[in-house]
Amino acid sequence: MDASATRGHSEDKPISERYSRQIAFAPIGERGQKRLASATVLIVGCGALGASLAQHMVRAGVGRVIIADRDYVEPSNLQRQVLFDESDARAALPKAAAAAEKLRRINSEIHIEAHVMHVGIDNVWRLTEDADLVLDGTDNTGTRLLLSDVCFQLGIPFVYGGVVGSRGMSALLLPDTTACLRCLIGNEDAAGETEGCDTAGVLSPVVEFVASLQAVEALKWLSGNGAEVRKSWLSADLWSFGVTEAALPNPSPGCLHCAPGRLRRRCDERKEQSASMTRYYTPPIVLCGRNSVQVTLEAPLSTDQAEAALKANPAAKLTRNRYLLKAEWENGESLVYFPDGRVLVQGTTDADRALALCKRLYHQPSRT
Ligand SMILES: [Zn+2]
Repeated sequence: MDASATRGHSEDKPISERYSRQIAFAPIGERGQKRLASATVLIVGCGALGASLAQHMVRAGVGRVIIADRDYVEPSNLQRQVLFDESDARAALPKAAAAAEKLRRINSEIHIEAHVMHVGIDNVWRLTEDADLVLDGTDNTGTRLLLSDVCFQLGIPFVYGGVVGSRGMSALLLPDTTACLRCLIGNEDAAGETEGCDTAGVLSPVVEFVASLQAVEALKWLSGNGAEVRKSWLSADLWSFGVTEAALPNPSPGCLHCAPGRLRRRCDERKEQSASMTRYYTPPIVLCGRNSVQVTLEAPLSTDQAEAALKANPAAKLTRNRYLLKAEWENGESLVYFPDGRVLVQGTTDADRALALCKRLYHQPSRT
């Protein structure tokens, strides 16, 4: 991980001449520029879309830009990944590190944080918790859905973008206002990934087009112009040339992630909530028709540890065999712990309730 940073940009500092043309654009102005300077944006994936997005955010003066990518630079990237050159590919530099070096040369007044990492369920909460907005620079459905889930849980806008061949699409998904990505494209199986850039190729101008669509919505939101964001799913084919727009649906009442009412802790509660949830692999999975929720712990406990913790809840009736440990409470709720860290919480379909019960697994002096 390379988390070194350049000089921070404070709201009190005079605004640099470098932003004069952006400030001259009335909807942003000095006020919007100051808001950008105090904003934090997370960009996951620093390949084609991600590199372009990072460049836009850094040049625009977003105060803190966090980038995360698991990959390294290869010659086949150079056709469309704007931050990399032949020397990066020769040295097989990690994309996040190579990008950060270039970005710091572009703007030394902001804070750039680069993480060479696979963004997965075990680290996404920590990575996301400080972000005011998350930009999708990924190339796979699984990570996109994970980011959407986490953003909707934390109340953070998520700007989806995707490209393949000569086609691209983008939408800004807003907790409490629009449906989440899972409601729009289905789960991993339904969404599928029938063709990707490896098989169908991708044109560099399409990447730039989609990155621009994403970046402009990010700038609106981060500069305090949230009322101006585009509320549509936009798809385009730049080769045959056609653009279509569809209004984004409302949050889905039955969705675990975007249903109204079950989300959106206030901003000041966000950190606390996120910190408490990093102990779990999330999001929890509600098992339809079984009145159960599955939670997976980030760091599995031994069955002995789990048993010791649950014994601190004397009201629980414990059953243990070589495969699992079960705790049952008189109100009908129960918790089944598997040694691989999986927990089946029965007697509820409420994910928050399930997480609360899982916390009982940590009630032992050695882990608190
Ligand atoms: Zn949803």
